[in-house]
Amino acid sequence: MRYDIELQVAKTALRQAALLTSGIQKKLLDKDVLEKEDRSPVTVADFGSQALVNRILAESFPLDPMIAEEGSVALREEENQALKARLEEEIGKLSDLKGEAILKAIDHGRVEQGKIPERFWTLDPIDGTKGFLRGDHYAIALALIEKGKVRAAALACPNMLLPSGEKGLLMLASENKETVYTSLFSDGPEVKAEARQPLEFQNALICESVESGHTSHSRSALIKEALGITKEPYRIDSQCKYAAVALGLANIYLRLPSQKGYKEKIWDHAAGKMIVERAGGTVTDTLGDPLDFTTPPLLENNLGVVASKNIDHAKLIAAVKNSE
Ligand code: AMP
Ligand code: MG
Repeated sequence: MRYDIELQVAKTALRQAALLTSGIQKKLLDKDVLEKEDRSPVTVADFGSQALVNRILAESFPLDPMIAEEGSVALREEENQALKARLEEEIGKLSDLKGEAILKAIDHGRVEQGKIPERFWTLDPIDGTKGFLRGDHYAIALALIEKGKVRAAALACPNMLLPSGEKGLLMLASENKETVYTSLFSDGPEVKAEARQPLEFQNALICESVESGHTSHSRSALIKEALGITKEPYRIDSQCKYAAVALGLANIYLRLPSQKGYKEKIWDHAAGKMIVERAGGTVTDTLGDPLDFTTPPLLENNLGVVASKNIDHAKLIAAVKNSE
C-alpha cells in the first residue's frame, strides 16, 4: 500500500529520537538550553531529535526535502560550543554521528525560502519545548506532505500513557491507514483508535495549550459557557492535544489566536491533523475552513485551529465565531 514504507521509516525515526529526548528530559542541565531570536527556548534535545530523525529519513528517502523547525546556525556560534559538545555527547549514545555530520544531519533536505517542493516532510523535533523544560508533556511530530496535502503522519508523545498504563505513546496514520496507536519504547501491537458515540456538549472536555501566549484562555472560557460545557479545560502542551482528541481523552482542541497577526507553523499541525482526521475526527481553523498546507512554513490562509471528534463540529464553529 502507498505510504506504508514512509510510515515504517517514520516510526523507526521517532522511536530513536524519543529515546534521546526522554533521556535528556530526565536530567536537563542549564547549558542544554538556548534562547532563539524570537526569545523562544531551544534545547540540546530539539537539535538532537532533528538530527536523528533526518538521518534515518535520509537513508530511505535521500532526495526528499525537509521543512523543520530547527537549523544548525546557532550551533556554529562560538558562545554555543558547550551546547554543541553536549549534543555530541547525547547523540553519541545512540548513533555514530559526530561533529560536522551532526550539523549536516540537522540541515539535511533544508528547503530554500520561497521554493515549495511538491513532496516534502515537515518535522517539529520537540513540539512544546516549554512543556519539555517543565518536565511535562511534549511531542515529536513528523508528517509527509504531497501536493499541499498531508499524506502520512507519525506523532510521538513520550510522556503520555497507553491504555495499559505503559508510558510512551506513538500514533500513526496515512491516507491509506486509519489512525493507530502503539508503544513508543517497546515493540507492541498497533491498535486502532476507536470511533465512539456522538457526544453532547455538556459532557465534552476541551483541551488547550498550557501557555496563554499560544491560545486565548479567556475566549475558550466564553465558548465553554456558550456550549454548556461544565468540565474545566484539560491543559496540555504540544500536539499531544491532537492525540488526546483522537483517543477520546478530550473531545475538542481549541487554538484561539492570542496575538494579532500570528500565523500557525505547519509543523505544529500537519501530523496532529491527520491523526485526528483518520481517527474519525474533524480539523478546521476557527472560521471553519480546512487547514491549507500549500504555504509552508506557515498556514498563511488560516486563523487558529479547532479540532473535534464525536462532536457537532458545525455547532462548535458557530460558537467559536460568536465568541470573537
Ligand atoms: P503548545 O504546546 O500547544 O502551546 O504549542 C507549542 C507551539 O506553539 C510551539 O511549537 C510554537 O511554534 C507555537 N507558538 C509560539 N508562539 C505562538 C503564538 N503566539 N500563538 C500560537 N502558537 C505559538
Ligand atoms: Mg512546535
